[in-house]
Amino acid sequence: MAAIRFLIWFIVGTLVTTHIAEASTPPSIHHSLAVELDPETHSLTATDTIHLPKSLFNQTPLSFALNPHLTIDRVEVNGRTVSVSKIPEGPSGPKGFMQWMIERPSLNLEQSKAASILTIDYHGLINDSPKTSGGLRFVRPDKTNGHIGPQGIYLTSETFWYPTWEHHLVTFDLTLTLPSDWQAITQGQEINQSLTEKQRTSEWGIHSPTEALTLAANRFVVQKKIWRDIQLATYLFPDEAPLAQQYLDATETYLDLYTNLLGPYPFTQFAVVENFFPSGLGMPSFTLLGQSIVRRGYTQPYSLGHEIVHSWLGNSVLNDFTEGNWVEGLTTYLSNYYYDEAKGNYAAALKTRRRMMDEFNLYATPEKDYPIRQFHHKETRIDNAVGYQKTALVFHMLRQELSDDAFFKGIRQIIQEGTGQYFEWKDLKRVFSRVAERDLTEFFKQWVEHPGAPSVTLHDLSVRPDPLRSDQSIVSGTISQNDGTYKLPLPIKVNLQNESTFESMLKLNHATQPFTLKVPGIPTSITLDPEHNWLLRLQREQLPPMLNGWDTDTRRILVHAKTASKEEETSFQALMRRIQGQPDIEIRQNDSPAITDEASYLIIGTPARQLLESKTFQLCNKRVQMESGHITILDQVFERPDMAFLITCPHPNFSNHTVSFFFGLSPKAVTPVARLLFFYGWDSYLVFQQGKVVARGMFQPVHSAREFTIPAP
Ligand SMILES: [Zn+2]
Repeated sequence: MAAIRFLIWFIVGTLVTTHIAEASTPPSIHHSLAVELDPETHSLTATDTIHLPKSLFNQTPLSFALNPHLTIDRVEVNGRTVSVSKIPEGPSGPKGFMQWMIERPSLNLEQSKAASILTIDYHGLINDSPKTSGGLRFVRPDKTNGHIGPQGIYLTSETFWYPTWEHHLVTFDLTLTLPSDWQAITQGQEINQSLTEKQRTSEWGIHSPTEALTLAANRFVVQKKIWRDIQLATYLFPDEAPLAQQYLDATETYLDLYTNLLGPYPFTQFAVVENFFPSGLGMPSFTLLGQSIVRRGYTQPYSLGHEIVHSWLGNSVLNDFTEGNWVEGLTTYLSNYYYDEAKGNYAAALKTRRRMMDEFNLYATPEKDYPIRQFHHKETRIDNAVGYQKTALVFHMLRQELSDDAFFKGIRQIIQEGTGQYFEWKDLKRVFSRVAERDLTEFFKQWVEHPGAPSVTLHDLSVRPDPLRSDQSIVSGTISQNDGTYKLPLPIKVNLQNESTFESMLKLNHATQPFTLKVPGIPTSITLDPEHNWLLRLQREQLPPMLNGWDTDTRRILVHAKTASKEEETSFQALMRRIQGQPDIEIRQNDSPAITDEASYLIIGTPARQLLESKTFQLCNKRVQMESGHITILDQVFERPDMAFLITCPHPNFSNHTVSFFFGLSPKAVTPVARLLFFYGWDSYLVFQQGKVVARGMFQPVHSAREFTIPAP
């Protein structure tokens, strides 16, 4: 999920642009902040004593930003009371905060050489209730600039709840007072806590320089555990409190793996915190998750594992968004992908690589694709395909180019050198080049600066006996790149008649290049990159059929029953609601549809069953067979009435389109799947029983971009 900074960039993007370009590592500001929060009245009362770096103190005007709902009661500069005034907002000025200017006292030389300490008293109401954000739920949490209220407290960089000099790193000593039945969590370490009948006061040290301070508070049930000097904790609502152990155990598992891989954990605490509005945010030393996410069990490598990897990447080594975003791709690679490989689950790892490649090819089509250098944050599925999936694969390919040793050494170097600094793609290139002892300019240029991926074909394949050795054959052919000239070492496997194989490497570096191989036997076919380690540009007909084929098609038809029973209609209601909101889907009512249009089809309910049973055309080359009351998929029979099916085959006449069938052996079987159907877009077939997946798999694409038959000599 998105780290909080991505949101920030979106809101105050223009400001970030001007500043970060000048200073890659700004000097940090130290706050001694005492704040009292009252949820019932939405109020905040604070005194902040700020140690400013001289460079900031000497700036003219001496100004800072604060939430517009907060009133300044008093300002002192080095112990002398001064006046402040509001700076009028410019016509294109960013909203969300008020800029204040401090009247600088006249100081003699001694005084101005001494400290540069500001003390600011302020108070006000922070009451921006979270509102549902538009767009895709996976992209953005509910929207609020900060809230203090009976449902919960959420204060973040967007709240401007303390005097802020943007684009400077900050450290804090924080004293926080809340009602006695409330608990707070923030970054850094809780040093002390005291309780009176009415109030709870906690003291926090936030001494690792950070971009902004985020704080959450609620009536939490807190559970803690020490793991190698690190405080692990859960802050959950009473209903979810029984899940605490599960989250603590998962946190420990990930920290165990990633401290071995990446080096010491960079903070003194990691906490899983339940939020009072939907969110999935990663902050330094804690993650803030909405209630439904917590309930569902957010403990997988791609969820909690991913947030934990952000502790090093994004929260410790900082990302300069004006220069792109490498953090999401590398975090995705190390958590969503590499966790399986590290645990020896190679089949799962291969599946993830293929899925990442499929996602890039389906969503980042040549007309929509852009260089990963231009990715900043995720707004659409194309951004996801480029900024997360392709970028993760670029790190995988870099690992193939170097070696595991050099690749992971490079990552550890980036963490060591980049902690507390802004790192961008050129810093990564510099560090990886140094550890690999070779110039990686070419690699970064073709994969980071350019869009796309190599589109490769083999042709003119022929085979002849080796005149020098009777047990060998000579295979020759030509390999062409159809879209730009990439340089890469492409692994190939030659399959031989006696069922053995011969492996080699084709060093690609020209648009067209002939090749010759001596192989020990009679070859039957060649497989390019059999392990799917290199991202190739594939056409739609070169991808396995799946529901996302329908989802990404330029022409989409939905067919549902004309004469459905009330029960059947109800079972598809959630799906229909979602689909009817999309204007570019052609919806047809037909009990026995013909698949004749040049489009992708999604056929649901009775028409799907009738079409499969009528056998008017062969689906998926007979891999799916439907008789009344049961269905056979790749020789496995399914017949229970509580089973539902999502099956996608290539269109029988137009291989770049697909036909998806979604139906149940009873209406009841459909209901729990219909709501979440589009979560299952990546398989060719899925069998559900009472809403749970009991079988899934892939069918072959119509045309393979990787398998080539060699004609007999
Ligand atoms: Zn992330």
